[in-house]
Amino acid sequence: MSGQLQLVGGDSDPPCGLCGAVAVGPCAHCRTLVCGDCCVLTEGSVRTWAICLRCDKKKGRNLLGGWGLVLLWVGAPILALVLFGLLLGMCRA
Ligand SMILES: [Zn+2]
Ligand SMILES: [Zn+2]
Repeated sequence: MSGQLQLVGGDSDPPCGLCGAVAVGPCAHCRTLVCGDCCVLTEGSVRTWAICLRCDKKKGRNLLGGWGLVLLWVGAPILALVLFGLLLGMCRA
């Protein structure tokens, strides 16, 4: 009886793709099933994503990556300057 219970439990729980423990869900990037120890949670705009440690090392916790933030910091002032220049040009014309 105990052996049968173990077999049923092993069949119903998919293994973690990284360490073989019981998985809790798929990685948002590579869809690999991961357990709670092998994934990190990423706060997205709408929902929380689980990213496996393999993808976390490659791409970082942010789904956009660190470059998205860098582009925002660099691009926002440039965009403001361009808009300011356009406004000045419109006023002079
Ligand atoms: Zn794991
Ligand atoms: Zn992954």
